[in-house]
Amino acid sequence: MQVTLPDGKQLDLADNATAMDVARSIGPRLAQDAIAARVDGILHDLMTPLPSGAQIGIVTKKNMNDAEEVWRHTLGHVMSQAVGQYYKEKGHAPESVKRGVGPVIENGFYQDFDLPEPLREEDLPEIERRMAAILDANLDVTRREVSREEGLKFFSYDPYKVELISELPDSAPITLYSQGDYTDLCRGPHVPRTGVLPKSFKLMSTSGAYWRGSEKNPMLQRVYGVAFATQKELDEYLHLLEEAKRRDHRRIGKDLDLFFTSEVIGPGLPVWLPNGATIRRELERFIVDLELAQGYQHVYSPAMAKSELYKISGHWDHYKDDMFPVMKIDQEELVLRPMNCPHHIQIYAHKPHSYRELPIKIAELGTMYRFEQSGQLTGLSRVRAMTLNDAHIFCRPDQVQEEFKRVVDLIRGAYDVLGFEQYLYRLSLRDPNDKEKYYPDDAMWESAENQLRQALDDMGLAYYESPGDAAFYGPKLDVQVRSALGKDETISTVQLDFLLPQKFDLEYVAEDGSRQRPIMIHRGVISTMERMTAFLIENTAGDFPFWLAPRQVVVVPIADRHLDYAREVEGALKSRGLRAETDDGNDRMNAKIRTAELAKIPVILVVGDKEQEARQLSVRERGKGERKGAPLDELAGELERRYKLREA
Ligand code: ATP
Ligand code: ZN
Ligand code: ZN
Repeated sequence: MQVTLPDGKQLDLADNATAMDVARSIGPRLAQDAIAARVDGILHDLMTPLPSGAQIGIVTKKNMNDAEEVWRHTLGHVMSQAVGQYYKEKGHAPESVKRGVGPVIENGFYQDFDLPEPLREEDLPEIERRMAAILDANLDVTRREVSREEGLKFFSYDPYKVELISELPDSAPITLYSQGDYTDLCRGPHVPRTGVLPKSFKLMSTSGAYWRGSEKNPMLQRVYGVAFATQKELDEYLHLLEEAKRRDHRRIGKDLDLFFTSEVIGPGLPVWLPNGATIRRELERFIVDLELAQGYQHVYSPAMAKSELYKISGHWDHYKDDMFPVMKIDQEELVLRPMNCPHHIQIYAHKPHSYRELPIKIAELGTMYRFEQSGQLTGLSRVRAMTLNDAHIFCRPDQVQEEFKRVVDLIRGAYDVLGFEQYLYRLSLRDPNDKEKYYPDDAMWESAENQLRQALDDMGLAYYESPGDAAFYGPKLDVQVRSALGKDETISTVQLDFLLPQKFDLEYVAEDGSRQRPIMIHRGVISTMERMTAFLIENTAGDFPFWLAPRQVVVVPIADRHLDYAREVEGALKSRGLRAETDDGNDRMNAKIRTAELAKIPVILVVGDKEQEARQLSVRERGKGERKGAPLDELAGELERRYKLREA
């Protein structure tokens, strides 16, 4: 038989030759370094007979990441082997360790076990040690095909394997992979020797998992591991996990008394406690101030409406699964709104408009309700009741580009204050081949998409295009902000819409007296208050900028005799609108300072004899060290200015 190498060379081989034979015929060095192969582009192992005529590429240790599924999977087998050894050493018969599935997952692998006694988290280092020894032993990994009878006989002690084998279709080959004295039923592929596996792995945890995911079946024990090609990558991953834990907005939300969710109230329905509500109020004021300065008009509209409204808008057809069910009362059908657009459209339609009034920008911190799957709900970042920083711009066709640019400016202005530095612009376009999802008007799409491109180019912004991500009614710009954990989250969006104005028959009177259709721009700058707060908590790890900090200043009197002056300082700050408090507890000064730091209060003012006499303060500020002898009035003025200007 013949195969083709990446450089186009043909190679003649004996029938049933493997990719290892290919590697050997090229050179011993390659055979030594080979870990897997790409056969017609698909990952294979080096032990499986090749189909004739295939295109073969050898994956070596140098490009480990090209075959990560392969070595992660072999590591899964090594773990399984190590667990077997561990139980054997504890005196259990090898057959008492039974195994469910053991696939590769993102960053690692897991294996399900039915064990004679549970594996504890403390046992994991023991398993890791045995895994390392198996790697050191550089065992050959071998593959063999067996008949169904042989397979069933081999695994007669293991009901899970028996079940799996019995369900394989007749045509499927049954393959076993072994290293040393361990053999598992497996489709592969695997690396050729345990010595090529990276030692940069770690067993993370164990959990219960039902056999085949069904509660009717026995509960197995699932052991998770992660593995990377290098120790550096593993360390980075573990560091990121630690960071994720440290920054988890649910944990911080609890520690700082920001919000809670309760079973009694219901999942996905968070309650904002005073501290969290302070952050939210600051965010709301902040964005409303920015919007008012840009000519937006803020309104309030009810979070429910007759279902008819959503039938006209089309949300009924497109969005029903995400809406709470209808409430029937008297002759009416009411729904909780999943979006604010139809209400804002009604506000526009409430009065006739002339071309001179446009653009009209209706804004609202609009509360809405979405039926998110319970498994998807997380803290504040995915909830069922949420308030969106929403606005709808109604404009003439000749104003679209200008308005679009203004929204982008608004977004950038908001990010400056929030301290977002890394973000990406994604221009989401339609997929021209998807006639189903997108509103069918080629000319409209062409023109809308080009206008957005043009506007972005004019502003000199770098963006990438993403066909197939547009809304069904028009193209949009999404802004994705890189979080402190390296994730990109869509925070802002600007969407052009030609469809809703049509559905609601919106118009304005043009210069020539004719009736024309306005274009609508949906836009959200700082997302929902819920998601933004979650994002900010994770980004700051609770160290909010001064203007957002729910508790801004604490005054710490050194002794009781300083309490009056401390209270006076507190009062002076409060009268300037700052959030100040006095720690009048019995702790010593250092303990009070520590308490304040743990509570993430950015400014700590210590007052003792000296300060009291001179009407000064000793200032300790997060990340800025200590400053002594600050005059009270001066400091209060400085803090007030920083707060009002929303400086960090
Ligand atoms: P997602 O893809 O996250 O479900 P979406 O595309 O449905 O969001 P939009 O309809 O554009 O979101 O909603 C506007 C804003 O509301 C977005 O900024 C999004 O981040 C936020 N948002 C959407 N769903 C939720 C939710 N369940 N909880 C909190 N915020 C949400
Ligand atoms: Zn396997
Ligand atoms: Zn909208």
